[in-house]
Formats: sequence, structure tokens, C-alpha cells
Amino acid sequence: MKLFTYKQADGVDEAIKAASTKTISKFIGGGTNLVDLMRENIEQPDTVIDVTHLPLTDVEELEDGSIKIGSLVRNSHLAANKIIREKFPVLSQAILNGASGQLRNMATTGGNIMQRTRCYYFYDETACCNKRNPGSGCDAIDGYNRIHAILGTSFTCIATHPSDMCVAMAMLGAKIIVEGKNGEREIAFTDFHKLPGDTPNIETVLQQGELITSVVIPPQDFTKNSLYRKVRDRASYAFALVSVAAALEVENGSIKNVRIALGGVAHKPWRAFKAENYLMNKEVTEENFMLAAEEELKDAKGFEHNSFKIGLAKRTMVSVLKELV
Ligand SMILES: Cc1cc2nc3c(=O)[nH]c(=O)nc-3n(C[C@H](O)[C@H](O)[C@H](O)COP(=O)(O)OP(=O)(O)OC[C@H]3O[C@@H](n4cnc5c(N)ncnc54)[C@H](O)[C@@H]3O)c2cc1C
Ligand code: SF4
Repeated sequence: MKLFTYKQADGVDEAIKAASTKTISKFIGGGTNLVDLMRENIEQPDTVIDVTHLPLTDVEELEDGSIKIGSLVRNSHLAANKIIREKFPVLSQAILNGASGQLRNMATTGGNIMQRTRCYYFYDETACCNKRNPGSGCDAIDGYNRIHAILGTSFTCIATHPSDMCVAMAMLGAKIIVEGKNGEREIAFTDFHKLPGDTPNIETVLQQGELITSVVIPPQDFTKNSLYRKVRDRASYAFALVSVAAALEVENGSIKNVRIALGGVAHKPWRAFKAENYLMNKEVTEENFMLAAEEELKDAKGFEHNSFKIGLAKRTMVSVLKELV
């Protein structure tokens, strides 16, 4: 591991100032991803800025009914929060489907959003990886790619974003609030993570020195009827092969409101806008659910070991929607 300087920030301004220098710096939340990557020499910051003392640890209901989640709220606390469990059960379910109790006790909301891919070749310093070393190639494309993406891939990278929590947040239409030296800005959750394109090393729209300060979920009653399902190789402690977060409102046998997002299939949490558009005002039938899933997955592209994900994503989507009915 490369030697680095450790700084503890006691205020948001101090954290942003410390990160806005020319040297490579990284914020550290729970450290459950960053420290692993530093041990493997994949992340090599000059400075690690500890943000865990910042006053961003609350979950609060705003006047308009939105819920504001501080970026230092630990995953366990967020999953157990009464307001979250009542208003957005899908978020609680998604978090509890991730990692382990010990990891969730450490992991923060901001760190979870910024966690990096689990592509095996990204973690292997001897492999070619455009994300780790731009221009070096991608050993996953013709290699073992069972866990890789089927939507939004590029010729440079087929990695997935591994978070469960983020799939629920994308489905709920959350916004990410970030603060940097030029002030605060708000980014739609679905615009925050990028597709790989020809710069898979640039994973989000966050600028150098910007800190995630909170996530805001807008008020919406129908998301009380929501569900997260994760399909994986083991019953616990495994990343999603495919996951689905969905919310549904049915009135007189037809669909009044629907939201769907997929995990384990793309470089970002994948909001299923095509399926949602297809389903609006349609009759609630299994056939319509399958047609919507087919619409969403029509541009999916499988690789040697992961083509099974295309059918799996469709079937999981249909099964979650049926359960919500
Ligand atoms: C064995 C294992 C199994 C796991 N299984 C799952 C799983 O099934 N599902 C799942 O979703 N996750 C899983 N995880 C990943 C886990 O959820 C993440 O490691 C965790 O959420 C990261 O949060 P953290 O606070 O520890 O982040 P850190 O490790 O502290 O940071 C991660 C990244 O976020 C950046 N960062 C942190 N806070 C901020 C901020 N406020 N603003 C801007 N940047 C910030 C850091 O600079 C760093 O780049 C697993 C991890 C392990 C080790
Ligand atoms: S899929 Fe992406 S992360 Fe994995 S080896 Fe290829 S470039 Fe690297």
C-alpha cells in the first residue's frame, strides 16, 4: 500500500478544501471498499480525508414530505429507520439484501453510492482493465464474464455497478446533493452514475473535491407498495446477478403508477423507463408485464458467460410486478 496522509475533517467546508488540491485525495466513510482497494494498490490516494465526523448523520422529513438522508448515515441505520420502513420499504429491503451485518454497520450512504465495480479483472493488477488503466484493454470481454453487464455496455468496459441500495434509490427518483468549492448542486440519481462509453474510468458526474452531503427522496404515496428482489449465487453475502426494485399502483384493474429499476445488469443502477412507459394505463396482466420486460431488454447484449441474465432479468421483473399486484 502506498503511504498516504490522513486528515480528519470536522466540517463540510474543511473536507471540501482538503479535497480541492492538486494531489490525489479520497474521502473515507466506512472504508469497507476504499481500504480494500488501497490494499490492492488499485486506489493510491496521497491524502485520505475522514468525513465520518461531519454532521451528516440524520434522516429527516422535510416540510414538503421529502426525506433527506445525510451521506454519513450508516446502511444499517438507514435500513432500520422507521420513516424509511413505512414510506419506502423497498429501500430498507435493498440495503438488507447487501453485504453483511458488520459491513452495513460501517458502510455509509455516500460510500455505498461511490463503491466501485466487483469485476474480477479490475481487482487483479496483472489483468488488462480500461477502468483501472485507461487504454490497456478489457480482459472481461473475452474472459470470464458471468457477473458482467448486459445493458449499456461499450467496447471498452462491461462492468456492473454492484450496489443494492442504489437500485432502490434510482427507482424512487431520488436526488443526490453534492457540495464543492463552487457551492451546492443537485443531481438526479439516474444521472449520477455514467455508462462506460470510452471513458470507463470516469464513473460518476462528481467533480474532484465534491462531497456527497445527502440524498433526497421526493414524497410519493404509491411507493409504499414496493419490493426489492435480488437473484444471486448464494442466499447471503453475494452480489446481485440480477435485481429488481419496483413500485406499483393499480386502479380498477389498470396501472396508475409504476416504477422499475434493475441492478446487476449495467454500469449504473438501471431505471427501466421503457418498461414503465409501456405499462402506464395498461391492464394488469402477466402478458403485459412480460411485454414490458421484453421492451426494456430488447437492446440487451449477452457475452459468453452471462447471456442467461437477459431471461433472468425479464422473469424477475415479471415476478416482482405480479407480487406487487
Ligand atoms: C465482502 C463484501 C461484500 C459486499 N456485498 C455487497 C452487496 O451484496 N451489495 C452491496 O450493495 N454492497 C456490497 N458490498 C459493498 C459495500 O456496500 C460497500 O463497500 C459500502 O457501501 C461502501 O461504503 P463505505 O462508507 O464503507 O465507503 P468507503 O469505502 O469509505 O468509500 C467508498 C468510495 O466512496 C467515496 N466516498 C465515501 N463517502 C463519500 C462522500 N460523502 N462523498 C463522495 N465520495 C465519498 C470514497 O472516496 C471511496 O471512493 C460488499 C462489500 C464487501 C467488502
Ligand atoms: S469490464 Fe471494465 S472493469 Fe472489468 S476488466 Fe473490463 S474495463 Fe476493467
